[in-house]
Amino acid sequence: MNLIDLFAIARTRSPHKPAIEFADGELRSSLTYAELFDRAERLAAGLMARGVRHGDRVAFFLGNRPEFAIAYLAVIRVGAVMVPINLRYRQREITHILQDCMPVLLITEQSQVELLEDAGADDAGDGLPDLMVVEELDAWSTSAVLESSTTEFPRVAADDLAMILYTSGTTGRSKGAMLSHNNVLATVTGLLNAWAWEQNDRLLLCLPLFHTHGLTVGLHCALAMGATVLLRSKYTPGTTIEDLLDKRTTLFFAVPTIYTRLVAELRGQDAVNLRHMRLFCSGSAPLDPETFGEFERLTGHAILERYGMTETGMNLSNLYAGPRVPGTVGVPLPGVRMRIVDGTGAGVAAGEEGELLVAGSNVFGGYWQDTEKTAASFSHDAGGAQWFRTGDLAREDPSTGYVALLGRKHELIISGGFNIYPREIEELLLTCPGIAEAAVVGRPDAEWGECPVAFIVCETPVADEILFSLCRAQLASFKTPKAIFRVESLPRNAMGKLQKHLLGDGNLAS
Ligand code: AMP
Repeated sequence: MNLIDLFAIARTRSPHKPAIEFADGELRSSLTYAELFDRAERLAAGLMARGVRHGDRVAFFLGNRPEFAIAYLAVIRVGAVMVPINLRYRQREITHILQDCMPVLLITEQSQVELLEDAGADDAGDGLPDLMVVEELDAWSTSAVLESSTTEFPRVAADDLAMILYTSGTTGRSKGAMLSHNNVLATVTGLLNAWAWEQNDRLLLCLPLFHTHGLTVGLHCALAMGATVLLRSKYTPGTTIEDLLDKRTTLFFAVPTIYTRLVAELRGQDAVNLRHMRLFCSGSAPLDPETFGEFERLTGHAILERYGMTETGMNLSNLYAGPRVPGTVGVPLPGVRMRIVDGTGAGVAAGEEGELLVAGSNVFGGYWQDTEKTAASFSHDAGGAQWFRTGDLAREDPSTGYVALLGRKHELIISGGFNIYPREIEELLLTCPGIAEAAVVGRPDAEWGECPVAFIVCETPVADEILFSLCRAQLASFKTPKAIFRVESLPRNAMGKLQKHLLGDGNLAS
């Protein structure tokens, strides 16, 4: 089975049902399942006429809009591979991706052409691939001459690549994670079951479609289920709340930054009635327990937190029908296996900390044309089974089996031989009224090797003495930050993920 076969189920079962309802300001449009797939197949025929072949890469530099879905379905229909590029990327990052995966076609919007031409003109670049702008895409996908029924599409195998997703990268250059139809299918079928997706679901989706969260967790699950996606170009507080208040909306997926903003927005309003909502999910970054609690108080909904990554799709999730425990990411999703290991690769006992490894059909095949990084990202257990090394540090609760993430392995601070997980200090700082955001990094220290320093964003002024005495009272002395710096905002990437490497080690902060 491939993704086209999966989506064909909904297309056959409910052709007249809205698949995508799009709104961006005054702009509104809607596509039924029949219309979506008809347009995708006409475009697929057009792509073949234009020379796109099985295995070719087709890059997208596109915002959230129905054409993204049409083009994606067309690309996989001809057995080609979609490469969505993060819309926040600028010239250097775009050049890197284009050079790395060498797409035959780049689909974009007219407003982006200048930036892309600069990226293509980069000294190191080989120029731009063939460009297709949305207006042209619309013309192809509605063309009366392109008859999909008379086009013979190539056969697509379950192990063929469906997409290469460049990791949003919290450090270094982005790498292309190769995901097959089968990899994505595994995540989608696991989530459909675990979160009890229903055909009547209407998912409010304002997460970018270029990232696995919006793309796999959002768009794919909805289309596979035959549900409706309320696609939005981005998160905007007022509009999002209006959309949530629409009694037909049932699902909302977001990153923690969005929930923090929603909480701030809802606090200032009269009580809202969101009882019709079936599920709020969070992922891509840690949801702080304060936000979890405040959201529940304001809306009556316990956010369901899950954990996944570009390379693996979704791995773990709190239970839909079971406890949703703040500060945890729950248990492995159907079909996912996990281990937590120490520095030697040996499994640790439940309750002990270590690196989280995962295995399952959801796990990618490797990084595009990078055998070295691919080899480094997998390890083998004593029985020879292969495991993906997530780089995330985790601890499993011995009695419930729920997993808590402690931070990234490379962010671990070691001070005088003691391990410090930045997240523990960040969570404590966030309990202090007036602190909106906190990030802790290690600063080189002649005596201790490293010492923690904190960066905070304050909503209202908070005195140093209050923060230091809170840390001294609640934490071991080696964990108390040596300095606390106030900043206007923390550097985050498009998914709201903190980019700690941009904070420096505190020496640069004023
Ligand atoms: P990405 O590939 O951009 O999806 O980033 C994956 C990384 O995001 C993971 O390796 C984790 O470090 C982080 N992440 C994803 N979900 C969560 C979560 N619920 N809590 C904490 N970190 C998360």
